[in-house]
Amino acid sequence: MPYVKEVLDYLKRTSPAQNEFYQAAEEVLESLRPLILQYPKYAKHKIIERIVEPERQILFRVNWLDDKGEIQVNKGYRIEFNSALGPYKGGLRFHPSVNAGVIKFLGFEQIFKNSLTALQIGGAKGGSDFDPKGKSDNEIMKFCQAFMSELFRHIGANTDVPAGDIGVGAREIGYMFGMYKKLSNRYEGVLTGKSLKWGGSLVRTEATGYGVVYFAKYMLEDRGESLEGKKCVVSGSGNVAIHTIEKLYHLGALPVTCSDSNGMIYDEEGVDLELLKELKEVRRERLSEYVKARPNAKYTPIEEYSHGCNAVYNIQCFAAFPCATQNELNLNDVKNLLKNGCVCVSEGANMPSTLEAVHLFVESKICYGPGKAANAGGVATSQLEMQQNASMTSWSFEEVDAKLAQIMKNIYLNASTTAAEFGEPTNLVLGANIAGFRKVADAMIEQGLV
Ligand code: GLU
Repeated sequence: MPYVKEVLDYLKRTSPAQNEFYQAAEEVLESLRPLILQYPKYAKHKIIERIVEPERQILFRVNWLDDKGEIQVNKGYRIEFNSALGPYKGGLRFHPSVNAGVIKFLGFEQIFKNSLTALQIGGAKGGSDFDPKGKSDNEIMKFCQAFMSELFRHIGANTDVPAGDIGVGAREIGYMFGMYKKLSNRYEGVLTGKSLKWGGSLVRTEATGYGVVYFAKYMLEDRGESLEGKKCVVSGSGNVAIHTIEKLYHLGALPVTCSDSNGMIYDEEGVDLELLKELKEVRRERLSEYVKARPNAKYTPIEEYSHGCNAVYNIQCFAAFPCATQNELNLNDVKNLLKNGCVCVSEGANMPSTLEAVHLFVESKICYGPGKAANAGGVATSQLEMQQNASMTSWSFEEVDAKLAQIMKNIYLNASTTAAEFGEPTNLVLGANIAGFRKVADAMIEQGLV
């Protein structure tokens, strides 16, 4: 069926130099083949052609004064991709690698991820090429205020509700919320991931990481396996990685690695979670500092990774949790994981595996939970935060955690039954993409050509 190539050629021609977006689109389009063949209504309504085109893209200038009094200029983005299922929803990423293609791939993934949560949220993503590394608290505040001084006119509790992503945590959400409130004169749930003191939800901080582990648990349970007593590798050391490690400990597993953009830690006795939190959340330091407090652990700088491999995935393990960033795991890494006996991969990051890596995971028939299904717990809990804000109530930790676990279970069941419906019961890439797409597509058809 020629449509995958046709659509990709069209995207490459009309939106040049957006490699990450083409990759995300190719993976989804490949999966949709059997659905499109079976149900002509999607072709008739040109859903594919419409869904790959964002409803609205906002690109803006962010200028701000650094501590030396010098003017700095950054690019700001908010891509409002699809609102068939609810207000636009998705995080903001502040990282020097951010460009239109990165935000577009993230926004595209978000449509299907948000659909899978079964909650009423459309898909969006935003951010900036601003690099928070090494910036003072004052500079972070200045940048967040400048960023919001444009974004505020495009968002709202029932319009578009941003949240965090890489480089955007509770501190940044606080500064952006303050500026939104001042400019709009409204106190509303316009951002999620807020502090617990002023409208945040319990479990939101932990949700993505906890959800990733719940997803692995449900995949494994279906095969009569469990994480208890099992050695696990985790990449990354941000919010998702930290809470993945935390939940792995809760379930009796042994997480032995974490990483940052400079290198990785292998701690055979298990990653010291308190030390990791102290380093990353309080002292905001590099991971290389970890071994000063834990001399038995091994730090490998990326210069020493063997050629073309991520050292995290070259450690013998039962399960792997990629929680760093896009394309951190390639074909060599899958080969290493499979060779070393890994039987379960649950993705905490967005699109951490290259397309070739995804293909081999699926072929291997191990438990493979693609990011848009496995990491949907974060955005799902954001929607629970929106529900609490709208009704001016707050729920207990146990209540939110139970809802999160149930949502992850439903996502797993939805992806796996859809995969079975299309004749590939272990292919959760196919199942998640079709299940996520189908709901959005049907809503688009029912809502007419808008
Ligand atoms: N950035 C997160 C994600 O990739 C969370 C988005 C949100 O909570 O809106 O899903």
